[in-house]
Amino acid sequence: MTALHDVGAFSRDWREARSKFLDAARRAGAEHRAWPHPLAGPAGDALATDTAWLGPRDASRVLVVISGTHGVEGFCGSGPQVGLLRGDSGLALPDDTAVLMIHGINPHGWAWLRRVTEENVDLNRNWVDFAAPLPHNPGYAALHPHLTPASLEPEALAASEAAQAAFVAEHGAHAARVAASSGQYTHPDGHFYGGSGPTWARRTSEAILAEYLPRARTIAIVDMHTGLGPYGYGEPICNHAPGGPRVRRARAWWGDSVTEPLLGTSSSQEKWGLTEFGYERCLAHADIAFVALEFGTYPESNGRVVLRDDHWLHTRGDPAGPGAAAIKTAIRDHFYPPHDDWKEMVLFRSWQVWRQALAGLAAA
Ligand SMILES: [Zn+2]
Repeated sequence: MTALHDVGAFSRDWREARSKFLDAARRAGAEHRAWPHPLAGPAGDALATDTAWLGPRDASRVLVVISGTHGVEGFCGSGPQVGLLRGDSGLALPDDTAVLMIHGINPHGWAWLRRVTEENVDLNRNWVDFAAPLPHNPGYAALHPHLTPASLEPEALAASEAAQAAFVAEHGAHAARVAASSGQYTHPDGHFYGGSGPTWARRTSEAILAEYLPRARTIAIVDMHTGLGPYGYGEPICNHAPGGPRVRRARAWWGDSVTEPLLGTSSSQEKWGLTEFGYERCLAHADIAFVALEFGTYPESNGRVVLRDDHWLHTRGDPAGPGAAAIKTAIRDHFYPPHDDWKEMVLFRSWQVWRQALAGLAAA
């Protein structure tokens, strides 16, 4: 068995993933730092984001790998992060190059098997300028009652499905997708809510970048996600301004598999408040290229169901009640398929994309 078939670096829950990450970071001689979270996990665990720095502290070239932006999606990024720290990836750091692993940037969402933060915020919609007028998404307001049914009984769900189908019929599939998931800043109890200010996870991200990257000159960032696209395929999604230097850098480093939602070439669509926009501002002193590495799992129709049910559980149901386990298993399995073939594909593709990033940094 080669390292590409060893899925032992993946975990069953946040606590195990953190334990494996800390152990692997220590054995690798990485500089570890914990960023404590104010709330606890479902088993009473003290939550934290962890960072591990590998390589010279003053390196001018840095690869940043982020896991857990969307909480429950953290399992996917953690496996290859732990594997790399264990030496499984075969990747070697060129001179003047370092790797910054950010493990579980949304630890509350991950521990509770949710996509959102403790503020019910989609961290990947939270990086807007809150001092400026917020993005306007009137379609979301129309869909909100149907996306958040009061009950999971069949009649209520049938009515909400019918209303959503009517919206698609009237406005088209793309407009419906933008309305439902591009982000909204009006319904704190809704889906894909961008927040009313920077979340703990965003503030922690900003502190990590200020601590570790004020002097880096060239930076590749890979933010690990799941839930869109074909099963097991990792799509590098680039949301930098089309035609600009950051997109050209991403294409030079990651080649023709780079997709651009703003050009309609991605499994994703245009969105507000993305993490890369915040990184562009925080790392304005450096030449950067940022991709979301998005691993496909199951059809998006299933994703809508698991997010709807999880939202219901945490707003109207009982997360500790008898019905919770089935909902939690469903959301975890959607964003983290419980199959070794999927994990093997994640390992291969992740290390491929990180190797391409290191090669690109070396040539920059
Ligand atoms: Zn995601």
